[in-house]
Amino acid sequence: MRKIDAVWSLQDIDSRAEAALTTAEQLRSQIGVRGALDEREAEIQLAEAALRVLAAEQRDLELKAEERRAKIATDEGKLYGGRVTNPKELQDIEHEVAQDRRQLSPIEDRLLEILDESETASEQIRRLQSALAAATRSWEQEQELARARLASAESTVRELQEGRGTALKAIDPAFLPSYETLRRQKGTAVARVGQRTCQACRVTLTPVQEQRARQGNDLIMCHSCGRILFVPIR
Ligand SMILES: [Zn+2]
Repeated sequence: MRKIDAVWSLQDIDSRAEAALTTAEQLRSQIGVRGALDEREAEIQLAEAALRVLAAEQRDLELKAEERRAKIATDEGKLYGGRVTNPKELQDIEHEVAQDRRQLSPIEDRLLEILDESETASEQIRRLQSALAAATRSWEQEQELARARLASAESTVRELQEGRGTALKAIDPAFLPSYETLRRQKGTAVARVGQRTCQACRVTLTPVQEQRARQGNDLIMCHSCGRILFVPIR
């Protein structure tokens, strides 16, 4: 095994650990976040509040209608009861009844409208509730999946951390500072060479550079991007 192979193995472990850490971080940011479910619940609460307003208006109008009807009944009792005989007084009562009926009519119309509106609002609430229930079920499934994937990513990270300890022992300690510095600066420290080209920056290497990199027992850097060159051998 060439010295460079141990560095390449370390980079492979570090890259996979980084990917697993990123995945775990993304999953942690998803877990417990209800997002759209809270919006749906707020929508239902608004619809329920609107329904309560309608119900209050209905109670209020029913009281008013009841008062009018009672007054009309009393006045009609006077008109047809025979105890009032004075024509002027009878005419006044007739006017009074007519006026009360005129006032009762729009109240009754509005009460019918309210029945209609309440029915529509109740239906909408039932629809929203059933959509919320379905969304909650799929959210719970997603959460369960996210928790399972998080556990798996965390266990991958732990395994790779152990593997890193082993990989470090195989590395020439003189190589480590360059590896760590390049990794910090560039994300990847080691660039694979394919068809005499640095696969990180695509620059073409000279045959001598490639030959030295292929031997793999010294750190040969790409003259363009500065990364450690790794030539795979079969
Ligand atoms: Zn390069």
